[in-house]
Amino acid sequence: MRESLSIGVVGCGTAGAAAALFLARAGHRVAVFEHVEDPRPVGAGIMLQPTGQDVLARLGLHDAVVSRGERIDRLSVQTGSGKRLLALSYADVSPRFFGVGLHRGVLFGALFDAVRKADLSLHLGVSGENIRRAGKQRILIDKQGNEHGPFDLLVIADGAKSRFRDDTNITLRADAYPWGALWFMAEDPDHLFKEELFQVVEGTGKLIGLLPTGQCPQGRRRVSVFYSVRGDAVDAVRRMKIADFRAELVRYAPKSEAIVGQIEDTAQLLYSGYMDVVMSHWHTRAVVHLGDSAHAMSPQLGQGANLALYDAWVLAECVATQPSVPQALEAYTRARRAHLGYYQLVTRGLTPFFQSDHTGLGLLRDLFMPIMNRVPAFNRAMVIGMCGIADGHPWKQLPVTMPGE
Ligand SMILES: Cc1cc2nc3c(=O)[nH]c(=O)nc-3n(C[C@H](O)[C@H](O)[C@H](O)COP(=O)(O)OP(=O)(O)OC[C@H]3O[C@@H](n4cnc5c(N)ncnc54)[C@H](O)[C@@H]3O)c2cc1C
Repeated sequence: MRESLSIGVVGCGTAGAAAALFLARAGHRVAVFEHVEDPRPVGAGIMLQPTGQDVLARLGLHDAVVSRGERIDRLSVQTGSGKRLLALSYADVSPRFFGVGLHRGVLFGALFDAVRKADLSLHLGVSGENIRRAGKQRILIDKQGNEHGPFDLLVIADGAKSRFRDDTNITLRADAYPWGALWFMAEDPDHLFKEELFQVVEGTGKLIGLLPTGQCPQGRRRVSVFYSVRGDAVDAVRRMKIADFRAELVRYAPKSEAIVGQIEDTAQLLYSGYMDVVMSHWHTRAVVHLGDSAHAMSPQLGQGANLALYDAWVLAECVATQPSVPQALEAYTRARRAHLGYYQLVTRGLTPFFQSDHTGLGLLRDLFMPIMNRVPAFNRAMVIGMCGIADGHPWKQLPVTMPGE
């Protein structure tokens, strides 16, 4: 579209900030509404995959983000008894590819700084609550009842617990998983953890992960510790004596002793639950859902922020190339279906093998995963999945450009 559109963006997280930047740079009049009054760079460690790196490079933010992260070359999963289940190397698909362990706040900080400097209007402390039609346009109503707009296009990017899915008939599912993770950001001054995302699993009830996370926004080297737990067992973990909790982690990951020694109180462990959101399509006539609001999933494959970034880029491309908003949004859903569909399906299928009450699935996993890891075609499919580039199936890949190429 050549004309300058009036666009409202609800939520200034990964998807909303990236979409606002792309659309404002394309000459549209963008207004961003974020319900947090003073957003801060907080959060756990996340993995930036080649897809996310590609989009950040398109935004001109790649170096600012990646230089604060830790290069990750492989994923390693073993059982509590030390049996290797999985070793996936990015290099098995391409020597160009790698992941980046990152403090979520670094990604947020870079995007938010860019939003602040961009030619758009940013409304902090405004919580989007509802949408009203005004002909072809849409008006955003906030929690106080104030109206904003009208907008030719409304981008909903308010995260996994989106307020806006209730009002649409395109939501097929928005369920909370019974399982989530407790996490802790530790310092790693001796760089004990590097190059790999290390996970230990025992049955389907125990999963401990250590992700080198580069520098936190305050500049110190960090590693993120994840501990899988059922949502209804969080209080029981918090009641554990800290020495017992530390001993439990060290038993599964002896190398983590110096790291978990930094946890002084179980109250320092922060809980994140997961959602599983499925929509039949991600748009209506003038409204589109991006990121977790559209397709929240368990972080088993480490893709959520990368998918959110990719959504933003594809939306901006569709708006640029299609003649009208409804056509742009139809093109958007079409363009995203295969990529998002694959990761939703695989995540939903895999999660119970790692976090569930079905112990039998853990036995199957321990039996078959090492075999699959050794069969080149399966190994390659798993690495392609890890890279975030499987476009419907592992044999069709998104054309990702790695920065510097
Ligand atoms: C434990 C855990 C580990 C994870 N690990 C990874 C990983 O390794 N790799 C990865 O890629 N992803 C990972 N993720 C997922 C990733 O964090 C999310 O997928 C990603 O942040 C989604 O971005 P988003 O912009 O859709 O939502 P968010 O980042 O949640 O942003 C939503 C924004 O909307 C705002 N908002 C909410 N409601 C309103 C409202 N009503 N009005 C206005 N603003 C509103 C919020 O304040 C927020 O700023 C992980 C998630 C969890 C929980």
